[in-house]
Amino acid sequence: MSRAARPTQPEGETHWARLKTALDLPLRLGAWYRVVAPVTALEVVVSIQGTRVSVPRPYVELRATPPGEWTVVRNPKVRPERTPAGLRQAYIVCPGCRRRVELPATRLAEQLCPHCNETFPIAWDEKPSKKT
Ligand SMILES: [Zn+2]
Repeated sequence: MSRAARPTQPEGETHWARLKTALDLPLRLGAWYRVVAPVTALEVVVSIQGTRVSVPRPYVELRATPPGEWTVVRNPKVRPERTPAGLRQAYIVCPGCRRRVELPATRLAEQLCPHCNETFPIAWDEKPSKKT
């Protein structure tokens, strides 16, 4: 018996997902969420505070390693009534607690999260789009 080709996503492997576009979903733009069901071509199911939420596959970015950096979100499409004034143009999202913090005025290498009291590097140069 020869071995069949391995699936690209072995069962049991944890994945992380985040939105690439602002959608009318309870996911925060820029924050990584744990994937809790096998990823299909159509949807990715993530856990948000214990609730399973299905997100259309084309709108999410996936990674296999737990996020360990702040995500920089610029010009977010936010609801002004839900977003403090200092965060409307840009913010960074904590990989530990997913809270938003004002974008530092200078390109600091690291930022302390005032909510969970942890320090993480900032992913300043992360560019989802490919170079031409
Ligand atoms: Zn935090």
